[in-house]
Amino acid sequence: MSLEAIIHGTFIDAPTPQSLRVRENIFVVVTKTGAIRQICTDESHIREEFRSLDIIRLKKTQVIVPGLVDLHIHAPQFKQLGTKTDIPLMEWLQKYTFPAESAFSSPTHASTIYPKLLSHLLKTGTTTAVLYGSNHLSATKILAESCHNAGIRAFVGKTCADMLTPEYYVETTEGSLKDTEEFVKWCYEKWGSGREGRVRPVVTPRFIPTCSKELLRGLGGIAQKYDCFVQSHAAESVDEEALVESQHPGQRDVEIYRESGLLGNKTILAHCCRLKNSEAGVMQKVGATVVSCPWSNILFARATVPIPYYNSTFPNLKIGLGTDIAGGFGTMLDNMRTAILQDRIDSFATVNRSNTSTDPNIKKENWTVDFKYAFHLATASGAKALGMEDMIGKFEEGMRFDALQLDLGLDGEDGEDERAMRFTRFGDESAEELFEKWVTTGDDRNVVRVWVDGVGVL
Ligand SMILES: [Zn+2]
Repeated sequence: MSLEAIIHGTFIDAPTPQSLRVRENIFVVVTKTGAIRQICTDESHIREEFRSLDIIRLKKTQVIVPGLVDLHIHAPQFKQLGTKTDIPLMEWLQKYTFPAESAFSSPTHASTIYPKLLSHLLKTGTTTAVLYGSNHLSATKILAESCHNAGIRAFVGKTCADMLTPEYYVETTEGSLKDTEEFVKWCYEKWGSGREGRVRPVVTPRFIPTCSKELLRGLGGIAQKYDCFVQSHAAESVDEEALVESQHPGQRDVEIYRESGLLGNKTILAHCCRLKNSEAGVMQKVGATVVSCPWSNILFARATVPIPYYNSTFPNLKIGLGTDIAGGFGTMLDNMRTAILQDRIDSFATVNRSNTSTDPNIKKENWTVDFKYAFHLATASGAKALGMEDMIGKFEEGMRFDALQLDLGLDGEDGEDERAMRFTRFGDESAEELFEKWVTTGDDRNVVRVWVDGVGVL
């Protein structure tokens, strides 16, 4: 059941990349439908119909911010989060990741691991998660049901791979298509096909190297027939590019997705560190999204997504952030910080962009990704990627209440454990400065309440 109250206090969001909106002393009315019905600056302006609601008055050190949108998570890799990152991507898949994912043939295993992932995500402030399941239909249904039970907003896909995958884990083309279509229909029956559905299906080819063209075309047909989201990987690293070139001489990821009917305004492509300009242009034109996974990109792809470059050259290209659990072992907060660092790396390091037509000397005098922009990427920008910019990612009347309550004063002054937060507060900081400290040096201990659709989920 949704919160039904008026919250009085400081609300912070980032509707545009460069501006942080700090609204202090405002009144936000949330009704039992989970919607924000009124925002006003004066208590006497609260509409008659809401005056009987309880008022929750936040402390000065408490702020409400939009929940975070993580656009790239491999749910069956969660158990190895923070480990097994000692070898390159293709070896890593074979040695650790395919075996870990294949264990999800056991529904018991899925029922044990998935709820733990979801509580990790909610605890660290993620209220919308875009998830890959394993190749198994039954375990992916368990993942979707676990999302529903946890109360997170989720986009879930059954991963598809009919080649270059070990025999113990590979699917047949036919089986992969049949299970994908069944999963999409099953989700629509349970949660509806509209934007308000809390769990929505995603057509999920793992990546070009593990999918035959027949499978890709079939998946494209399913995505179009059911008008659903598509997620995959593209232009991740030099190795991955070379592998695609060896399989499909003269062709590259974006073109193959496009010819398969998998590239449109509901397509979310992780990494995209090595897109050619023409490819970024095509993605912008069709409305597809680039998901930067800064931690994983640096660790595994040894590459970066040139966000400032894309921002200036392709101003309408949708860009969001992902953790890439478990290729990246950071939280969304960690990835926001890494996005800032990555921006600086691009400003001084020589990044290998050979074989792409992207300007090889992307060296920006103007740093673009600061804490505000990183927060925008993790909230409003992620919402836009999901076609939900008018529903989540910021606070406006009529939008859904997907939000975090941060307590930025857990330093022992009010009797709490003085080790309850990571940064030091001096008492004279503005709300914006305290919030900046959280983005740059805080952690999940500051996230004290989490709501999705107005429902308390933490
Ligand atoms: Zn990935």
